[in-house]
Amino acid sequence: RNRLVIFCHNWKEVKTNHVVVNYDYDLIVIGGGSGGLACSKEAAILGKKVMVLDYVVPTPKGTTWGLGGTCVNVGCIPKKLMHQTALLATAMQDARKFGWEFDETVKHNWDTMKTAVNNYIGSLNWGYRVSLRDKNVNYVNAYAEFVEPHKIKATNKRGKETFYTGAKFVLATGERPRYLGVPGDKEYCITSDDLFSLPYCPGKTLVIGASYVALECGGFLAGLGLDVTVMVRSILLRGFDQDMANRAGEHMEGHGVKFLRKYVPTKVSVLIAVGRDACTDKLGLDKAGVKVNPKNGKIPVNDEEQTNVPHIYAIGDILEGKWELTPVAIQAGKLLARRLYGGSTVKCDYINVPTTVFTPLEYGSCGLPEEKAIELYGEENIEVYHSLFWPLEFTVPGRDNNKCYSKIICNKLDNDRVIGFHYLGPNAGEVTQGFGAAMKCGVTKEQLDTTIGIHPTCAEVKRQCCHFIYLGIFLALGC
Ligand SMILES: Cc1cc2nc3c(=O)[nH]c(=O)nc-3n(C[C@H](O)[C@H](O)[C@H](O)COP(=O)(O)OP(=O)(O)OC[C@H]3O[C@@H](n4cnc5c(N)ncnc54)[C@H](O)[C@@H]3O)c2cc1C
Repeated sequence: RNRLVIFCHNWKEVKTNHVVVNYDYDLIVIGGGSGGLACSKEAAILGKKVMVLDYVVPTPKGTTWGLGGTCVNVGCIPKKLMHQTALLATAMQDARKFGWEFDETVKHNWDTMKTAVNNYIGSLNWGYRVSLRDKNVNYVNAYAEFVEPHKIKATNKRGKETFYTGAKFVLATGERPRYLGVPGDKEYCITSDDLFSLPYCPGKTLVIGASYVALECGGFLAGLGLDVTVMVRSILLRGFDQDMANRAGEHMEGHGVKFLRKYVPTKVSVLIAVGRDACTDKLGLDKAGVKVNPKNGKIPVNDEEQTNVPHIYAIGDILEGKWELTPVAIQAGKLLARRLYGGSTVKCDYINVPTTVFTPLEYGSCGLPEEKAIELYGEENIEVYHSLFWPLEFTVPGRDNNKCYSKIICNKLDNDRVIGFHYLGPNAGEVTQGFGAAMKCGVTKEQLDTTIGIHPTCAEVKRQCCHFIYLGIFLALGC
């Protein structure tokens, strides 16, 4: 099963002179995060002998965590739970307007939140271990690096080295936060890797960066009542629709978050979120011959996630030019295992991936930002329909009137097909998921118009999106 027969170049020698190579594993997956776990489990289900290695190099502050990678430990899960903590503060303010009466001063206890969130994460870590064991995937908590194209060295936390060979490899090592590269950054700053299990409330915080990680972290810290300033070098949410990004930022500003624009840091004692670097530099990829983009450490792959070395594949955040999202890593990992071992030909579709930024006012999107749509199709060939709206649940508390916004971008050359969906408002993830499915099916503006909405919801607003020419008139009429 896990044998590779190597034939000599001269066909005459093949008959007499072939060499049989036995590998320890059919598949070795490096990285036990979203992509690596999905891929290793799927390959094991398909009957392969699989090993997954996962190792967390501690942050300069010494923070480390369990199995499951970024999403579960220092990404999506703690971030969304802390965002929810902040939303509850708003809900409490709203509650008085809905008739709830409570006298006591409401305070937030960081330690209670942190412990509850981390206990939940601990249960997920445990669940992942159990599920690997159930599927007979051999999990090794060690740092892996190639020593030969089919051989890795695994170093555990006590420094013990063990060597393993594999017929095939999947690289799924993800990314880690980038530091500023100025003196004191590692000594005095924390990153998102430290924040979610920080043993004390960070207090007054300067967030350096304007990525979604920066705005989400700044947003929930402000929602907990902390004094937060976000330092922005150039623009908010690079890569996202800038109209939407600025509206999300304005909402934060309107709710007490300060923004320092066109600044770069000189003083450090802050939360940094200035981007993340692919974990590929210490993987020994040169020993395996795997090509890496030297500018960003990302790995180029073909549309089957295969690197330039045919038996080595890569998935997830380390890929060049692909989405850095958990469901994408999982989907790519599963489909790769099915193609390698299950006879499938289905490839991961990286187009029209829905996503949400959990800023205080959430921003969901799918498809192209307006800037990109114009670049690809020309301004004259796209139509933008948009609408400001006031969610019903905001009306009684009287907050954020007409701050929520949605727009769709349609391709006039293709039957007004929706090529961009953008929504700024409550429950953006829940709203956007459905539109993501519709866009995958190629939904057109007309089909959206003929879809009956659910009332009263925010998602129904999409059906009512105004042509941009009319927007001003509607606004003027107080619509
Ligand atoms: C703050 C934050 C919030 C996020 N929020 C969201 C969100 O809301 N929704 C969403 O979809 N995505 C979100 N993401 C992105 C998501 O977490 C990633 O896209 C996803 O985790 C990528 O999966 P992966 O398998 O590529 O890598 P990871 O999940 O990062 O897993 C890689 C694993 O490999 C290990 N590793 C690295 N090198 C080695 C080695 N040499 N040997 C052994 N192990 C190694 C790492 O320690 C890690 O455990 C967020 C990310 C961050 C940082």
